[in-house]
Amino acid sequence: MSVQNLNSKKLNVGIVGAGPAGSLMAYLLARLGHHVYLIERRHQTDRKVCGEYLCPKGVELLEQMNLFQQVGSIFEPLHGMVLVSPLDVSIPAYFPTPSGSERGLSVNRQLFDQKLLDLALENGVDYLNDTTVTKVFQAPEGDWTVETDSGSFRFNVLIAADGRQSKIGHQLGHIKEINTKRAALHCYLPRKTARGNRMGEMHIFANESYCGLDPISDDEVNFSIVCNSERLKKEKPIHIINEAIRNSKRLNAMFDPADEKTEIRIVTCLKNHNDFVAGNNLAYIGDAAGFIDPLTGEGIYNALLSSKILADCLSHEPDVAGALSLYKKTKRKLSFQKTLLNHFFQFLIRRTTLVNLTASFLQKSQSRANHFIGIIGDIHSPAKGLWKMLFNFEGNQ
Ligand SMILES: Cc1cc2nc3c(=O)[nH]c(=O)nc-3n(C[C@H](O)[C@H](O)[C@H](O)COP(=O)(O)OP(=O)(O)OC[C@H]3O[C@@H](n4cnc5c(N)ncnc54)[C@H](O)[C@@H]3O)c2cc1C
Repeated sequence: MSVQNLNSKKLNVGIVGAGPAGSLMAYLLARLGHHVYLIERRHQTDRKVCGEYLCPKGVELLEQMNLFQQVGSIFEPLHGMVLVSPLDVSIPAYFPTPSGSERGLSVNRQLFDQKLLDLALENGVDYLNDTTVTKVFQAPEGDWTVETDSGSFRFNVLIAADGRQSKIGHQLGHIKEINTKRAALHCYLPRKTARGNRMGEMHIFANESYCGLDPISDDEVNFSIVCNSERLKKEKPIHIINEAIRNSKRLNAMFDPADEKTEIRIVTCLKNHNDFVAGNNLAYIGDAAGFIDPLTGEGIYNALLSSKILADCLSHEPDVAGALSLYKKTKRKLSFQKTLLNHFFQFLIRRTTLVNLTASFLQKSQSRANHFIGIIGDIHSPAKGLWKMLFNFEGNQ
């Protein structure tokens, strides 16, 4: 396909992967009048390994698209995070806004992903579940052929939303997985204490690992630890989790040790890099467009945002090539500061003394701590958040 005039021609679009990125993309493109096929290897949405925290900016994005009622309203809000240092100092921090109304959400991923998929299905998207994409290739005129275990399909535009380990990205040589030597261990634990206020928690430990807690419901806390993957060669996952609980006064007060029946899921290789992002009638969205260690919990937001940006580009630009080029440029700009910030956090958590110093710096002022999680919650850009923490910490926003 050479140049498509998007105002006059409706496209045949294939989207691979029905996670948050793929389902939202399918919905948005169907609303623009394109013919959309959504291909997913799973039989039904299931609960992915995820901290299940949707950051405030993600909530705001759903509101902007008028989708909050349908997608987000059934989930419990989160008003901030308790930050816990290696010395067990706890700092409650609230998402900073002038009105104080900003909130994240605790989302059960199975329900959340299903709600987004329902939106796509209600808007006429053709859904092929139980269908695994095995190979893609491009014809000289530009269309893409997608081979699956149940037949092959031809599309004008192909959108890869097939996640962190994108099969398409690997096959085409666009994705590079980076072994960070980190592993995430994930489980659900019941609280032994009464329900607290609606706050997530981020614990940094002295052994360069960290753990995130998300109170999904009264009796179910989403518990994820990220640690050095070498530990898994010597220790059982349950021991790593129970050691963290045993060594922290706060975790000890909240949980009994996990028992042998606790289902622990493990994810390794927590980073990928995609230099291509978009071009040649192909675009990557969500984790397939690049993913970094889930330290600040904003993968779902990034997935939704990339779909929204690509849909906007496809609706405003006169041709596919221009839309993909604009998408690529916008995406790169957005990820630059975030990548730097993530590198900074990764550097920080490996230095216990620095983490303890940062904790005592944040502890001195509530609004300083609030601005800090404003960066994590994507309410402030890293540069603006840092400025506010250092020079404007008495202010309310
Ligand atoms: C340990 C951990 C904790 C996390 N915690 C958080 C958090 O608290 N908050 C947050 O915002 N983010 C978190 N994330 C990140 C978040 O889970 C992802 O960023 C998000 O799921 C990305 O959505 P996506 O649609 O791009 O990909 P996915 O949700 O991975 O969806 C990809 C879909 O593609 C399908 N697929 C893959 N290959 C094929 C194929 N060949 N054919 C057909 N279908 C295929 C898959 O079945 C899947 O449904 C965490 C990640 C990890 C690893």
